[in-house]
Amino acid sequence: MSQWFIEVAVPVPLRQTFTYLSGSMLEKGCRVSVPFGKRTLVGIVISSHSTYHGNVNKLKSLHDVLDASPILPPILLTLCDWLTHYYHHPIGEVFHTALPVLLRKGEPLPKDTHLLVEAVTPNDEAPTELLARAPKQLACWQFISQHTEPLATVNKQFSSVVVNALIEKGVARTIEKPVMSAGWRTNLHLADKPTANREQAAAIAAINHISGFSTLLLEGVTGSGKTEVYLQALEQVLLAGKQVLILVPEIGLTPQTVRRFITRFGIDVAVLHSQVTNTERLVIWQRAKENKIGIIIGTRSAIFTPFENLGMIILDEEHDDSFKQTDGLRYHARDLAVIRAKNEGIPLVLGSGSPSLESLNNALNKRYQHVLLTARAGAAVMPTQHLLDAREQPLQYGLAAGTIAIIKSHLEANNQVLVFINRKGYAPALICHRCGHSAECHRCEQPFTVYQKPPRLQCQRCEKTKPVPLRCAACGSSELIPSGAGTEQIEAGLAHLFPQYSQVRIDSDSVRGKDKLANILKKVDRQEYQLLVGTQILAKGHHFPHVTLVVVLGCDGALYSADFRAPEKLAQLVTQLAGRAGRASKPGEMWLQTHSPEHPLLQDLICNGYQAFSRYLLQERRQTGLPPYSVQCVLRAEAVNAELSYNFLMQSRHYLDTLNTLQMVGPIPAMVEKKQGRYRFMLILSANKRSVLHHALRNALPSITQSALSSKVRWSIDVDPMDF
Ligand code: ADP
Ligand code: ZN
Ligand code: ZN
Repeated sequence: MSQWFIEVAVPVPLRQTFTYLSGSMLEKGCRVSVPFGKRTLVGIVISSHSTYHGNVNKLKSLHDVLDASPILPPILLTLCDWLTHYYHHPIGEVFHTALPVLLRKGEPLPKDTHLLVEAVTPNDEAPTELLARAPKQLACWQFISQHTEPLATVNKQFSSVVVNALIEKGVARTIEKPVMSAGWRTNLHLADKPTANREQAAAIAAINHISGFSTLLLEGVTGSGKTEVYLQALEQVLLAGKQVLILVPEIGLTPQTVRRFITRFGIDVAVLHSQVTNTERLVIWQRAKENKIGIIIGTRSAIFTPFENLGMIILDEEHDDSFKQTDGLRYHARDLAVIRAKNEGIPLVLGSGSPSLESLNNALNKRYQHVLLTARAGAAVMPTQHLLDAREQPLQYGLAAGTIAIIKSHLEANNQVLVFINRKGYAPALICHRCGHSAECHRCEQPFTVYQKPPRLQCQRCEKTKPVPLRCAACGSSELIPSGAGTEQIEAGLAHLFPQYSQVRIDSDSVRGKDKLANILKKVDRQEYQLLVGTQILAKGHHFPHVTLVVVLGCDGALYSADFRAPEKLAQLVTQLAGRAGRASKPGEMWLQTHSPEHPLLQDLICNGYQAFSRYLLQERRQTGLPPYSVQCVLRAEAVNAELSYNFLMQSRHYLDTLNTLQMVGPIPAMVEKKQGRYRFMLILSANKRSVLHHALRNALPSITQSALSSKVRWSIDVDPMDF
């Protein structure tokens, strides 16, 4: 009997593969179950060899081979190899991240069947008489007698009551059949569409002109009709029988967006986001792999979906933070999309009204194609932008007198008003009026947020809650005052100032739960609310046709932040928020309330807009040598004992220093210095060239991972970090 040595990627935090014995050769990409210590784990075959340079007696045999052929197509295997090298991440965990949960657990691919409804014709006669008094049932019977259709398709026209009645009367039955591949291609038909304007037509032509791989940045102001460009550019792709993947930010995935694609192409659109169950996810995964689905719209991790015949990737709102994973394998879906499109030899379209400086730089230096949409589509005009000087004005609930007056005029004109503030709860701190002590979460050393609905203190880092104290923990005074304002306070304030107008608060506290956000947004569209108060959620994706005024509060902190990306993030937020106003025929305006109206960044952004501002920021980054003009990586460590995490990073710094090619800052405390009782430090590495950074990491990682300290702290590598 021949013996094979199988290299397996096992889901453990170690940067290596493990060798197991097997009686047969196995293909790369098959799943196997293997003994690992006392556990049994599901791993992925990386390679098979007939010889082994080590002590064969120490090797264990595989338990089971779970797949007869590779579960991952070659494109995804290549992508996983790239991820492992680029992010310096343990290979077993990379494969783990790339697979749907059920496949990670070793489950087999399910049988892919669906129920069809078939007409039964008793005695070869149409049951016209039997159904004479039930016209709906008769219509349904006639429909299914022409084609045997999936139950889901029949239910789009006829309710299940009607279908069940036919089954009970013996004139219809359901049968289970495998889902046919490429069924979507026969259903595909194009609905009516608006005529593209000149800029849109140029963008569509540019996209359709691409053959093979190319990345195109579509920089279009909010409301300029980017989605319409995607829709029209996709026609050719879908008509050629090719599948498409559309990536959107987490909260940008609204039913509104999905419906536009379904209506335009008349085919099912599969949706992948965090609320999709593991079983549904696996079904979609398998159908995409077999070309049984034409369009998938999904958030970040949908980039790992296998496709039999992928024709284009679109990544909308490409500047959005949610494309970057912030734990485990810290990948950026945008960068992954570039690699994937390149490997597939297909176009990638990145769209945004406020592009990231990374993508903008790539477009300006011609690595990406660059197309601009400068005007709003249809009859809508761009909202005007203004600064409201809050200095020395009386403030009520965090609102300046001038702000209140503007809100009043818009409400009186029967329009909707959107008020943005970047904090949840009633107030970001509870402070003692006598001694200045603020109530803090001890595990995170950070002030508790004060809530009124229901009354409590809650930590934003660890979510720990406790009752609102009656007395100061430091001096015993009972004079405790909430300091600063959050959404709850603005809501209470507006209810007091404008009691005659209905209001809704939209933040992650108020929209928790399935479909809650979608239902609130529907009511907003029906104008059941006139005042909307909320956080970032309001800035993303949704169009509010009746909003004519956007008020932005509490942004001054970003002007003085230590994070070099803060101005970029602020500008993107303000631009996206302004874009919510004046969608339809009503012109809109945005007012940003500030105590720093003379700040040059604000002045530039408000007067010149994102396009000019972002190019100015790029110049600044070039002069200071910050990304995208250099590359960065952060080594993070956390432990209950602060000294351990500091020492681990100090030691890592020495290992990284041997080549003397990197700039290093740290170890310094992370922006979030303490969380859930653990002290967090970071070491920031930067280099002018990516190869230098990778080389230094590859060189130092064996020593770092083998050090005694590395097992005493939680540590991670973050390549191209988006926050610190
Ligand atoms: P974006 O994705 O850039 O925010 P959308 O594609 O959603 O913009 O378009 C904004 C609005 O303008 C939508 O209501 C859309 O139906 C409409 N629209 C887009 N393109 C056209 C066009 N060529 N003619 C008329 N209306 C259009
Ligand atoms: Zn006190
Ligand atoms: Zn806490």
